[in-house]
Amino acid sequence: MIDEASTLFKEILDTVYENNKHADLELIEEVYRFAEDLHKGQFRKSGEPYILHPMNVALILAKLGLDERAVCAGFLHDVVEDTNCNQFGLADHFGEDVAFLVNGVTKLSKLECNSKEERQLESYRKMFLSMAEDVRVVMIKLADRLHNMRTLRFQSPEKQRSIAQETLEIYTPIANRLGISKVKWELEDLCLRYLEPEQYFDLVERISMKRNEREEYIQDIIRKLHTELDKVGVKSEISGRPKHFYSIYNKMKKQNKDLDELYDLIAVRLLVNTVSDCYAALGIVHTLWKPMPMRFKDYIAMPKANMYQSLHTTVIGPLGEPFEIQIRTYEMHHTAEYGIAAHWIYKESGGSEISKDSSQLSWLNQLKEMQNEATNTQDFIDSLKIDLFSDTVFVYSPAGEVYELPVGSCPLDFAYKVHSGVGNSCIGAKVNKKIVTLDYQLKNGDLVEILTAKNAKPSLDWVNICKTSQARNKIKSWFKKEGREENLQRGRDMLDAELKKRGFDATVLPKPERLVDMSKRMGYSSWDDVCVGLGNASLTVLQVFNKLKEEFPKAQKKEEVTVESLLASKANKDIKKKSNVKSSSDGVIVEGLDGVPIRFAHCCKPLPGDAIVGYITRGRGVTIHHRDCPNIQGSMENEPDRYVIAYWDTSEASVYQVEVFVIAIDRPKITPEVMALINDSKVHITAITSRVKAGKTYMNISIEVQNLDQVILMIDKIKSIRDVLEVKRTIAD
Ligand code: MN
Repeated sequence: MIDEASTLFKEILDTVYENNKHADLELIEEVYRFAEDLHKGQFRKSGEPYILHPMNVALILAKLGLDERAVCAGFLHDVVEDTNCNQFGLADHFGEDVAFLVNGVTKLSKLECNSKEERQLESYRKMFLSMAEDVRVVMIKLADRLHNMRTLRFQSPEKQRSIAQETLEIYTPIANRLGISKVKWELEDLCLRYLEPEQYFDLVERISMKRNEREEYIQDIIRKLHTELDKVGVKSEISGRPKHFYSIYNKMKKQNKDLDELYDLIAVRLLVNTVSDCYAALGIVHTLWKPMPMRFKDYIAMPKANMYQSLHTTVIGPLGEPFEIQIRTYEMHHTAEYGIAAHWIYKESGGSEISKDSSQLSWLNQLKEMQNEATNTQDFIDSLKIDLFSDTVFVYSPAGEVYELPVGSCPLDFAYKVHSGVGNSCIGAKVNKKIVTLDYQLKNGDLVEILTAKNAKPSLDWVNICKTSQARNKIKSWFKKEGREENLQRGRDMLDAELKKRGFDATVLPKPERLVDMSKRMGYSSWDDVCVGLGNASLTVLQVFNKLKEEFPKAQKKEEVTVESLLASKANKDIKKKSNVKSSSDGVIVEGLDGVPIRFAHCCKPLPGDAIVGYITRGRGVTIHHRDCPNIQGSMENEPDRYVIAYWDTSEASVYQVEVFVIAIDRPKITPEVMALINDSKVHITAITSRVKAGKTYMNISIEVQNLDQVILMIDKIKSIRDVLEVKRTIAD
């Protein structure tokens, strides 16, 4: 055994033994010899013997407090991928448990997948699913990644970047979700070092200078706290914790500040014995220094989703500079650093498991649910990213129970989280006692009440409103249970409506017989089955439409508008939506409200010069309507408080979308003639649809203009074209 290896090995054994005095150390020794033998003659890029890598991974796992089987799997994690050993051999030697763990962290082989991307996605999926079975799988992956990141300097610059990028996208969110901050912080700092090397080294240097400057200041604070806490008999351990580079970097980027403008580079951390000591200490902190309003957070009463508990407060320090204090018990501190690993318990039988009170279990169960819902791997990874990697909001039921949902969830997500029966019979929702629309975005602390009716049914659009895959899953399964006939009819209607919306006549669809092959390529045995899939939400209408477009590229609309141009106009519409979001400095002034996000109503698309009014939406800023818009007339009387005075800011030039409706006698080239005229006037067309009915052509044209005068002029010009019967601006859809 080389020297370095023998020191490492001793450290691993010591750590495992310290965690569990009954651990099977002989098994570890056996595994080590087995792995060393297999990796013999292999070297890492650093020139070191390969075996040092799996050994370091095993050590990280032991230090996280994992059991000896996981440590064994650490030793063996690369043998299936990189040596001629297979998992069946492993099971024979070391048992099913170890073999399962090793298999869970082994990437799919190149033979099993078509492309590199597919292999990557499928490997993630495999990892997440094995993780749902046994969370140790992902801990081994994290340990592997951590050691690879620690030794990343030996890789080529391109590899460094791509590995660091992947770490930041996949592995640090997992570490965060599992509450393993120790690993998360180290990974994040390493990622920053390779992704933004210049900024990283600059930060390291400047922060170490600042820390030295502030050392005395922090020591003063700590001494003062100790004295006061001793007086009331609260025993404590206090330290000045330097913040991690990545979190400082993030803060600078988010708040667009320079390092000199950030005060809380160091947080003071207070560890005490009991929860009541935490609050006692908080009281003392607040009598010594003035707390900053809105900065106090009680994660003890309301723990974070990853089990983190602590009190946070920011106070104005002796020199008038704010600093943060974190107060928690030793136990909370252990959980804060080790997360799910802190909840490891050893069973009498020699195995181990996560204690049942760990809230992480519900998250792992969600993973299992998700695999049933996802139609393909990309879907699965996408919903995983939304459900697991996004921040959460806490809301209350009328009974006072707390529910945790991903940010962006709506009342339907809440309803389905409570019970699928509640979701399926939902007819509306109240938030904080007021009726809201079902797509309302829930905020922290909202009190949510679901209104239900006995014979109510879910609606298929809910799938698009809901944020959680749990809710979408339940809605889809409701529709799946409905009869085939209903789903078939609904699917056909949906496709018809979509075609109509895009200006197609449903008769352009090929006969069902001609669609059989295409249906098979989509994994269905007939065209009817595709329609059923559409009706029960297994497929989206866009998926079917795109497939049709791909298979029948020559299908054309009556007016010779191709599918391509239609899609292009759809893309334009999407852009249009985005450009409709303007801040108050972008052309409209809303009285009394500065800086609120402003949107222009889709129904009336008001233009500069139009009489307008602002409507305060729930949570989405102010929507600007045409004063005469039929959609707001009733509500202006019923809820006058929501309407605010708004007028055009004439000092700024902006571009606005407006839709013009043209009726003309149908003749060849009438549409191109109208388009040419608009183009010649240097007005930009963002979308156009036209259809012919009973000898007349109907055109909907979206154009970009700067003000009302311009659109009036445009309308007059179009009216002068031969055969044009009527031109008007569309006010309401
Ligand atoms: Mn490895």
